[in-house]
Amino acid sequence: MHTNPFEGAMEQLTAASRILEARTRTKREKESLKRIIDILRYPERAVTVHIPVRMDNGETRIFEGYRVQHNNVRGPYKGGTRYHPSVTLDEVKALAFWMVMKLAVVNVRFGGGKGGIIVDPRTLSEHELEALTRGYARAIAPVIGPTVDIPGPDVNTNETIMYWMADEYRKLKSQISMSKKERETLPAVTTGKPLAHGGSEGRHTATAQGALYVFEKLTKKLGIKQGATVAIQGFGNAGYFMAKNLVSAGYRVVAVSDSRGAVYVHDGIDPEATMRCKTEKGTVAGCYCKGSVCDVRFGRTIDPQELLTLPVDVLIPAALEQAIMEKNADRIRAKVVFELANGPTTPEADEILRRKHVTVVPDILTNAGGVTVSYFEWKQNMDGAHWPESVVFEKLRSVMTAACDDVWNTAERYHTSIRMGAFIVALSRIVSAYTKTTD
Ligand code: NAD
Repeated sequence: MHTNPFEGAMEQLTAASRILEARTRTKREKESLKRIIDILRYPERAVTVHIPVRMDNGETRIFEGYRVQHNNVRGPYKGGTRYHPSVTLDEVKALAFWMVMKLAVVNVRFGGGKGGIIVDPRTLSEHELEALTRGYARAIAPVIGPTVDIPGPDVNTNETIMYWMADEYRKLKSQISMSKKERETLPAVTTGKPLAHGGSEGRHTATAQGALYVFEKLTKKLGIKQGATVAIQGFGNAGYFMAKNLVSAGYRVVAVSDSRGAVYVHDGIDPEATMRCKTEKGTVAGCYCKGSVCDVRFGRTIDPQELLTLPVDVLIPAALEQAIMEKNADRIRAKVVFELANGPTTPEADEILRRKHVTVVPDILTNAGGVTVSYFEWKQNMDGAHWPESVVFEKLRSVMTAACDDVWNTAERYHTSIRMGAFIVALSRIVSAYTKTTD
């Protein structure tokens, strides 16, 4: 059983490489594939930093953070920044590896990286959070940059944090001489910034928007009908906007959870009313909201673990890694698991779900909309442009539907799972990038 997400990620890599190797004909191709798989087993760089922060009470606390740069054969490293008390280096390594795969699945010309700080940001004042973020930006400044590594948001980080990071980086760089173009493109060092500071239209909702395009593209193939029931674990950026999208598209979101609790509403929740209630109470527990009214008659509070095993059509894990593991996979009753979080299903659980004929739509396809719009933000910053939301979403739709077709067709051609189809698409593109560099 894996409790180390990086080991789980490497197991996925091994499984995909076996499928590819079986189809590789010549000795030379086999050797080349083996070499690249070996390279992908290690991050190219993993930086650990310690950030001293003067707390409001005058004490200095030292926080540990990481920036992992897994691979840049396809372009500059790119990946989010997580603030969470249970962040570990192995978690960040797994997330950086999945970024490499994800960016290759959507064919965006970035490599993969990820960052994180061991902290519960809810325990910090705004002043402490800003000091921590600026300290982290200074600590990783030597290894990031608009054409080197571009951090973005992830769990518990938002557009203000992304702006502070970019601003601190700009301050540091303003001390050295650079061309006008270099100076103008400095905001491209992070993505997920506020609109007023170089952010992109649509970035805030991009992960769920991209996921909706994938969902709509696959509904027929997966036998998901209008009015189908959905349970969502995690009611943050990804989970909340996905709930909104699905309800608007005519699906029934019957249960949602957060780190503190969960609710079940038989007729389906109203996502906006539920979010208003959550903001007031600090949790979704007790938010039985239907048609913009929250009332005890509509639903019941359930155990967050029970949410995962509800008899729904679609289960969407949208919180953290390892939500579906060996110990609970057998109890999953959904027909489809649509992964919105990164790494929510362990390889052991994946195998149990396969045997139970539960279809898993993998994270590296479904949640790639966030980083795709991050790429659009970077591109706009580099070109001094600003695209309207309609343009952003049109481009996003085209990227996500093309990736969906590539993954589905590959899975069919190789008679394998959608996850392995996605890995094979990604690996083929990475192998081709390596081949070009060594020609
Ligand atoms: P977020 O911080 O906005 O929300 C996370 C949510 O998960 C919160 O509601 C939190 O309470 C809940 N949660 C945490 N532990 C839980 C548990 N044990 N049970 C139930 N709920 C729990 O984070 P987010 O940005 O929505 O990210 C969620 C997932 O989606 C992560 O895996 C992240 O890596 C992935 N993701 C996010 C983006 C993005 O652009 N935001 C892009 C790609 C992938």
